[in-house]
Amino acid sequence: MTTQPESSTSTRPTGGDHPQDKARCREGLDPFFSSAHGFATDGKVHLNGNSLGPPRDGLTGELENVVHGQWSARQVQGWFRDGWLDLPRTIGDKLAALLGAAPGQIVVAGETTSTTLFNALIAACRLREDRPVLLVETSSFPTDLYIADSVARLLGRQVVTESGGGFDLFLQENGTRVAAAVAAPVDFRTGERRGIGPTTALCHAVGSISVWDLSHATGVLPVDLDANDVDLAVGCGYKYLGGGPGAPAFLYVPFRLQQAVDLPLSGWHGHARPFAMSPTFEPASGIDRGRTGTPPLLSLVALNHALDPLLHVGIHALHRRSRELAEFFLECLELSRPDLLEQLVSPRDADRRGGHLALRIPGAEGVEEALAERGVLVDSRPPDLVRFAFAPLYVTREQVRHAVHHLSDVVKEAR
Ligand SMILES: *Cc1c(COP(=O)(O)O)cnc(C)c1O
Repeated sequence: MTTQPESSTSTRPTGGDHPQDKARCREGLDPFFSSAHGFATDGKVHLNGNSLGPPRDGLTGELENVVHGQWSARQVQGWFRDGWLDLPRTIGDKLAALLGAAPGQIVVAGETTSTTLFNALIAACRLREDRPVLLVETSSFPTDLYIADSVARLLGRQVVTESGGGFDLFLQENGTRVAAAVAAPVDFRTGERRGIGPTTALCHAVGSISVWDLSHATGVLPVDLDANDVDLAVGCGYKYLGGGPGAPAFLYVPFRLQQAVDLPLSGWHGHARPFAMSPTFEPASGIDRGRTGTPPLLSLVALNHALDPLLHVGIHALHRRSRELAEFFLECLELSRPDLLEQLVSPRDADRRGGHLALRIPGAEGVEEALAERGVLVDSRPPDLVRFAFAPLYVTREQVRHAVHHLSDVVKEAR
């Protein structure tokens, strides 16, 4: 499944010292990644794949086939004859390959990341009835903070927010009071990484449930869920996975917890025998208990279609490629605008970053708009961050060089 699309560094002929020469040189050696073909990018440079990736070229045909070849032809029988009913699991098993999990532990119920996190967090608290605290990383994506707060109010627990080392320290000092600890492997603003292994081990040492939001890591960073002994995890389908606007989220429950978890969203598709129409809920035995109701089929089809090239390349090559693009961006910036490089809020060390970089630039929103007018899509986060994401499948070095050139112009103009 995992191919090696790039030749190893040592066999690359050396180009000129200018990043531009290096870019040309490396692209030429790069059979899989040599261009952004295969994606409907509309000629734009998509450096916002951590918000919404572009569609693959074949998506319309895929949807057309499902609508006309399956839906109109077989109507409701499509659920059984065309694999629709299996799709939440089919996609889950594909995601498992990207997330370092054995098949049978991930499901895409058709919910948002927010509802999936709600489901997971309550289940985590139910596994630790006697513990009063929900520990949440302060810099979490807002929805994670809102959901944790709501869960705490619903269950009579207390949310404690801590950031960075303070989060670890709280676990060390007060961990036996913590029911669940919620964190992300990649900070959505700065791109800074948190080690899944060490934090999960810290949770386990004090008997807390680790709940990971993988939204900004999935499809760009290996997370090794099984090897890291993660308890529960959720993640978003529309970022680096490219599942399309509002693509559904996924839920990971490892085999060792599948019988124990009591998920609050106990819909009929999570029942052991959904079509027996029983008046009482009996959860399915495996990961299927993470399903809720009838899934949004067309959205699942789009997400499923998006995953194939990611699986073909494999998560380690995807990560390597994303790192190289980000490093190249920084090299170009160093040459042309060292003043902007000084405004990097992301770690300079590639090992400590996810797939995106953030620069602190006054008037960030205006910079985003000006770049969009020049065909370079980035995104801004208030008050003054501009984020650049290096999605491995449809961003090229040449585009990165263009992006830095335009950024340099735009910020000059803004002064
Ligand atoms: C993008 C993102 C979400 C999105 O949640 P939705 O409910 O799917 O809109 C949640 N959490 C994190 C960390 C994210 O980056």
